[in-house]
Order: sequence, then structure tokens, then C-alpha cells
Amino acid sequence: MSSFKLDLIIPNNKLTNYINGKFSPADNYIDSENPATAQNIFQLPDSNKTEVLAAVESAKTAFLSWSRTPPAKRCKYLLKIADLIEENFEIFVQAESQDQGKTLTTARTIDIPRVLLNFRAFAVTTPDKLETSFHQPETNSINYSLRSPRGVVALISPWNLPLYLLSFKIAPVLAAGCTIVAKPSEMTSWTAWLLARVMEAAGLPPGVCNIVFGRGPTTGMEILRNPCVSAVSFTGSTATGEIVARESAPFHRKLSLELGGKNAGIIFNDVNMEKCLLIMLRSSYANQGEVCLCTSRIYVQEDVFDSFVSKFVDCVKNLVIGPPDDPNSSLGALISQQHWNKVAGYVELAKKEGANILCGHTKDPLPEMPEKNRKGYFMLPTVITKVTDDSRLMKEEIFGPVVCISSFKTEDEVIARANNVKYGLCASIWTENVGRVHRMARDLDVGTVWVNCWLVRALNMPFGGVKDSGVGREGLNHSYEFFTDEKTVCIQHD
Ligand code: NAD
Repeated sequence: MSSFKLDLIIPNNKLTNYINGKFSPADNYIDSENPATAQNIFQLPDSNKTEVLAAVESAKTAFLSWSRTPPAKRCKYLLKIADLIEENFEIFVQAESQDQGKTLTTARTIDIPRVLLNFRAFAVTTPDKLETSFHQPETNSINYSLRSPRGVVALISPWNLPLYLLSFKIAPVLAAGCTIVAKPSEMTSWTAWLLARVMEAAGLPPGVCNIVFGRGPTTGMEILRNPCVSAVSFTGSTATGEIVARESAPFHRKLSLELGGKNAGIIFNDVNMEKCLLIMLRSSYANQGEVCLCTSRIYVQEDVFDSFVSKFVDCVKNLVIGPPDDPNSSLGALISQQHWNKVAGYVELAKKEGANILCGHTKDPLPEMPEKNRKGYFMLPTVITKVTDDSRLMKEEIFGPVVCISSFKTEDEVIARANNVKYGLCASIWTENVGRVHRMARDLDVGTVWVNCWLVRALNMPFGGVKDSGVGREGLNHSYEFFTDEKTVCIQHD
């Protein structure tokens, strides 16, 4: 057992960039607040061109030696990093919850365990197991292919599952032999900085993983404008994904874009309703609905619609919204005032359009919060019916605790309606009919279909979206394919 102990104290209350193995102060800083208290809790760099350049140069310099380090040795660092995070598990949990607004329970049972799994799963899968090609067309020649790490890659991540998503990028890049310039969301940078401290303690060679903090239009843009960045793995909104693609086009970069969603849950009348209700509840409101895979539209077959809706609303009313540090809270705070306004705007729109708000925001009072949480960005889980398919509520990503429920008659009808959005991230279907399962899995325009479940995922399966939900797939070997290039070698020996 090592004696590496992290704490929640940030020196001078300012995060520092991690460049070339050193923690370096920046020229400009911005505030970061705790969404559950609306209090500023620390400052982070808003890194400028010079700071980004230093990070890219450091990654460039480290590349040769890191790419030639044997994969098994690279993967040992991943295991060491996972062990050090595990030793400081509760610090990561506390920081993630305070920075993001999610409940401690969510951070403790979902986010940080998944960070450990990310590092460990990529460490044992190792990139050298990827398939390559061999061909012998003539007796005097052979062809084979090699996989080479791509180079300096940029990793840009969002605020909803901060370290969970960033580590799903950092782990495969390290294992694949690329070097990194990472930028977490300016809303949730704390655990990435803690990870930098872990990487330093793990002895990761300087320059292999650089983390620069800052806003998208400043720091993020400087990363995208640097010609030495050879690939970008981006997770965030579809609007920003378009900027990433546009800025990357002149450099012919490889792109992996994991973008927004407007996910449907489709419930047929033959379903096990008790199980379905509990999982639909989780899929609608996990992490305050701030998960890209959360269900936002529920379609229920007409003969079970009324009973589903009434039982669902009863369950929603039993959810506890409260301080993230209260173990009884099932939902914490939304990420910011701005995001709260956006989500609340959709509920106001529902009212204007004459929809039926069955419970939640604008319908019920928020429970009394302790003094420290009175200004936090809390919103009740909300259920809306009588929304038309062409309403913005059914078309746009809300990314909060708001779900719209609608009824349908036939399988063909519900497939057409579920597909009638610009997004295509995931869907869940609820039925015992195996033929229907196959037909719907084939016909739904999404990257992942869950059947009688939600968010159950093997890391070795491809993850990503279609349509405006993204380009490319990540997952164990899929990530390794993305972060490496296959090169053909042809040898003529006489
Ligand atoms: P966002 O697009 O605003 O920001 C994501 C990241 O991009 C942040 O680090 C941000 O600073 C950076 N960024 C913003 N503008 C930039 C620019 N001009 N240049 C470079 N970088 C820039 O997204 P968000 O609000 O942080 O996250 C929520 C979104 O992420 C939702 O749409 C959600 O669906 C999506 N998301 C998708 C997945 C997925 O796997 N498909 C997972 C999680 C979240």
C-alpha cells in the first residue's frame, strides 16, 4: 500500500495546468461553483494560446519514447493510476459531487467505480491484441499490417460525467501509445486535476498526458487550431461537435464525436410492468437527467398508457430531491443557473403549448432545503403528457429531469415516431416478443438498443451514435482502432 494521500484542499484555491509533468500556474483564471450551493469553490485556468502550445509541444516531445514503450509497460501505469484513485476513492467522490451537483451516492456508486473500471479494463485488454492482416500473394513476397499510435491527440470532455468520460478517453490513449492534451469542461475540472496529481504520483513520464483547463471558445479552440493535434476525441453537444469537425477539417484529423441525444423508451403492452417502471424511472432521472443516454421521450402502447402513467407519476413523486451530501437524496442539483433556465424553459413551453404537466417543475413545490442549499439549482423530476410530436419538447435535447410520455398503437408507427428526430444515440424497448425485438433493433436509427433494460453495457461493445448523435465508435478495441493507424508493409524477398 502506498502512502499517497489526496485531500480536498486546492493550494491558493486555484487549479493549475499539468504540462510536461509539472503543475504550472496560468495567466487567466475563471470561477468554478458548486451547483448545489451556488457558491464559488475554486478558480481554474482559462488557458491561452501560449499555455496550450506548451502542452502540445510537451506531448509532441514525449511521443517518440512513449510510443516505443512496450504496451504491457504502458498498461502497468494504468493499473497504478487505478490503484491510487482507489486509495483516494472518497476524495474523488466528494470532489465530483461538489463540482457537478450530483449526489454523493451517484458519484460513489456510478462515476468513480466506472473510472476505476475504465483504467483497469483497458489495462488488461491492451492494444497489441488488435487484429492485423497478413497476405502472401506470391512465393517471393508477403504483406502484413502494423498498428501505430496516431500521435498527439486532443481529448475534450463535458460536465455531466466528468472523470467517468474523460478516463474512458485517457486510458485507451495511454495504452495505445499516443500522447495527450486533455481539456475537461470548465464547469467540472476538479477531478481531472486530482487525476493529474495521481498521474504524477504514478510516475507517468512527463509530457505523456497534459491537462489544460479552460473554456471551450478559448482553450478548446486553441487546441483545435493547433496543427500538431492529429486526432480529437470529443464528447459534448452536437453544436460544439460541429465546431470541432469544422476546425479539424483543414488538418485532416481523425475524429471521434460523441454528441447529444433525444432517446426514446418504447413500452409494449406485453411487458413486465414492475421491472419496466423502475428502470424507466432510473433512465429518465439518473444524474438529474443529465446523462446523454437518459430517456427523454416515453412511448407507451395505448391499452397500458393510463396505468403506466399513473404508476410512473406515483414513483416520480417518491423520488427525493435534496442536498447531494444527504444519503436520502435521489436527485441533486443541475449544473448551473444557465442550464436550469434552459430546462425550465422547456417546461414553460409545455405549458404554453397546452401540454399536461403531471408532476414536478411548476406543478409541485420544491422541498425545503437546508440553508446552505437554498440557492442551489434544484429542479423537481417532471412528467409531461399531451405533447405533440412536432413540439420542441419531443425534438430537442433537454438534458434535465423532464420526460414526455405519449401513447402509440402499432409497432411501425412507434418506430417511425421514435426515428423522427435528428438524434440517434440510443433507445430502450420493452416487450417479451422476440420477433419484435429483432425487427425494432434493426429499424431504430440509433447506436445502442437496450431490450428490457437500460445502461447495461459491456465495455468491449462499440459505443456511439448515428445521425446528429455522433461519428465513430469507442469501446475497448474500437477505441484502440481509433487511436492507432493500420499500416501495410509489403516485403519482396527475392
Ligand atoms: P459542450 O459541447 O458545451 O462542451 C463539451 C466540451 O467542449 C467542454 O469541455 C467545452 O469546454 C468544450 N467546448 C465548448 N466549445 C468549444 C469550442 N468552440 N472549441 C473547443 N471546445 C469547446 O457540452 P456540455 O454542455 O459540456 O455537455 C452536455 C452535452 O454533451 C449534451 O449534449 C450531452 O448529450 C453530450 N454528451 C454526449 C455523450 C455521448 O457519449 N454521446 C456523453 C455525455 C454528454
